[in-house]
Amino acid sequence: MNEPAARKHASERYSQMTTKIPKRSPAGKGVGRQPAERAWLLAFGAHPDDVEFGCGAVIARETAAGRRAHLVVCSRGESGTNGTPAIRTREARAAAEALGATIEFLDLGGDAHFEVSVRRVLQLAAIVRRVRPAVLLAPTTVENQHPDHAKLGHMVRDAARLARYGGVKELKRLAPHAVEQVLSYAVTPDAEPAAGARILLDVSPPDVVAAWTCAMEAHASQLKTRNYVELQLARARLNGLRAGVEHAVPLFAADAIVVDSIAALGRGARRF
Ligand SMILES: [Zn+2]
Repeated sequence: MNEPAARKHASERYSQMTTKIPKRSPAGKGVGRQPAERAWLLAFGAHPDDVEFGCGAVIARETAAGRRAHLVVCSRGESGTNGTPAIRTREARAAAEALGATIEFLDLGGDAHFEVSVRRVLQLAAIVRRVRPAVLLAPTTVENQHPDHAKLGHMVRDAARLARYGGVKELKRLAPHAVEQVLSYAVTPDAEPAAGARILLDVSPPDVVAAWTCAMEAHASQLKTRNYVELQLARARLNGLRAGVEHAVPLFAADAIVVDSIAALGRGARRF
């Protein structure tokens, strides 16, 4: 599938960030990496496994193409039924390693305690200014199985705005930064917005599916009661069948996408 022109443009502009790509290694061997100073793609997740299950294939696809990706996990999954914060932190680091991404953890008040506030939005905006990504990934704002997901989705959108505003006094130490795209991912099918166009990213290359599967399986503590790996692979396969490719992952644009020509839009997904 062709990339929209805006993303191609962003890729070119940020090509200088592609020189130090973390090497992939099997999940479980990751020892964690230092937070990225800069990355082309910045993905926020409320809990240690959200990015991996919701859009891990997108991360793997972009790092395989040589673009740097950085993950920010906004809790340690403290309120989860399974897994301790220490176990979940280890699992997330191993998963990031499998995706070829860097990772850091941020405290937004703790799992199940997120509240939308200016203070928290400023914490997120400071990271956006530091990492200076072209593309931001955040959970959708659709209410679903965990209240933190939609709240984080709202806060990341606001953070993208505050990161751009030059006069925000709390952020003065960091230069303003305007991201080119804010895209949302759905942690589960229930979190997909019912209305509006979706972008389907073709994630069919076998090494991408393998890295994604490896990253999801790294969250072993979360797989004891539900087969989330199969749920996500089946969802990607269904989206792929609809689009005429092997596997595809849906993303949702917060704003209208600008292209130089309609030729850059690729093709529609309708196959049935
Ligand atoms: Zn979650």
